[in-house]
Amino acid sequence: MIMSKAAEAAEAPDYSVYALKYAGPFVSSVAKVLLDTDWEKTIDRYYYIWAVQGGGTTLVVDCGVRPGLAAQKNLKGYVSPDVVLARLGITAAVVEHLVITHIHQDHAGGLALFPKAKVYVQTKEFAFWVDDPVAQRRPFAKVSDPVVLDQLRDLRGSDRLVLIDGDREILPGIELLLTPGHTPALQSVAVKTAKGVAVLASDCAHVHQSFVIDLPSSLVCDLPGWMRSYSKLREKVGGNLGMLFAGHDRDMLLKYPRVAEDVTRLA
Ligand SMILES: [Zn+2]
Repeated sequence: MIMSKAAEAAEAPDYSVYALKYAGPFVSSVAKVLLDTDWEKTIDRYYYIWAVQGGGTTLVVDCGVRPGLAAQKNLKGYVSPDVVLARLGITAAVVEHLVITHIHQDHAGGLALFPKAKVYVQTKEFAFWVDDPVAQRRPFAKVSDPVVLDQLRDLRGSDRLVLIDGDREILPGIELLLTPGHTPALQSVAVKTAKGVAVLASDCAHVHQSFVIDLPSSLVCDLPGWMRSYSKLREKVGGNLGMLFAGHDRDMLLKYPRVAEDVTRLA
């Protein structure tokens, strides 16, 4: 029997959404996270991955910096993402679904920690970082990780790599949303929860205030596209900005119920 869209939606579970801090805090100029604003002031940022669980399914969003690079950079407060996931009872080595929001080293670097996972990434994001020579130029090279770019090349053509064009529901109640701006084709993750739709926006905003004051970070690929991404995400949560979660916001660690060390429940 073919179910209607409405029946499928009714079947989707309410998921729980967790933020897992794996590095930081890092002190940055405010101007880094809010474009050209308050150069003299500073703000704390943290590095996170996220986990979504419900109806027997576990999905991980982003995979952090890989341990080798973290050691090389002496990354402050670093704990390997698989170790943080284990605190929530999740074994990275058997996770089946991994969303890569964008191919920066702090989001895509830990790919090898998830050897069994289907890896969901936007086609345009993949093509830029893996194939476009411009991605090897300095502004891009300094935020990517060549080791992981090789691992992504190796995945090409395998059924573990799921290339996405635009918006797509990948599991009942879990939808990927194309939200470019910070990178050529960053994707956010919209999740059905008991509190309504939550959106893990990753670095579509580095801090939550970006959604409130309509100002992206200083790491820009496409500024008009970024502003349209903000409109799209606000609409997705029906204007309830409290359901939009920014990629490096300290409040995810500090203001939500703690369920394990450096792990909080967002929704
Ligand atoms: Zn980031």
